Amino acid sequence: MKFLVTAGPTREYLDPVRFLSNPSTGKMGFAIAAAAAGRGHETTLVAGPVALRTPRGVRRVDATSALEMLAAVEAELPGCDALVMCAAVADWRPARRAAAKLKKSQMDGTLRLVRNPDILKTLSKSKGGRIFAGFAAETGFPEQEALRKLHEKNLDFIAANDVSAPGCGFGTDTNTITLYCADGTATAFPMLTKRAAAARIVRAIENYRNGKRR
Ligand code: C5P
Repeated sequence: MKFLVTAGPTREYLDPVRFLSNPSTGKMGFAIAAAAAGRGHETTLVAGPVALRTPRGVRRVDATSALEMLAAVEAELPGCDALVMCAAVADWRPARRAAAKLKKSQMDGTLRLVRNPDILKTLSKSKGGRIFAGFAAETGFPEQEALRKLHEKNLDFIAANDVSAPGCGFGTDTNTITLYCADGTATAFPMLTKRAAAARIVRAIENYRNGKRR
């Protein structure tokens, strides 16, 4: 199969030295790309700004903002069988990006924001027979939110985790994920290293694809 994986945060600049972002380190998405490549799948990783080395056998494309990530994923989508959106895409960006550093005197404490496009929703119209998987990082009620997003974003899988739980979420090496599938099944993984969780997610996608073909 050909996997397309996204990882890390996006940065939404208001001037050349200031941005809005989030604490995503990219570990989960990099682990998924590594697991897919390790199982012999041709793998492309669209990475936000992170400090991680590209996994062996993975082709990497860097993207900084949500708009750049959308363009990169859109460009890579035609050649892929499965898209795994692990990136923590910023939902908003500053309405204006100043070309030069803003002076304190130019700022009045108000920042006007505009919505970023939802990459999964935008690309769902070009989904075709591809498998789309997303992540839902929640603080409380992960199941309810995950199922809502599974349907709203027309996904085959959503991996939900409560980022407020111990050992979960941004920057940790472990995660406790429940993987919801569009076929109605839900698999609760125990707390696992991100590497082990990634291997299970890749295998679930392979099995789903094989099942679909039968
Ligand atoms: O709605 P929420 O941001 O919680 O959804 C999470 C899922 O949607 C993740 O898979 C994330 O990569 C994806 N997403 C996206 N475009 C956005 C925001 C989130 O594709 N603008």
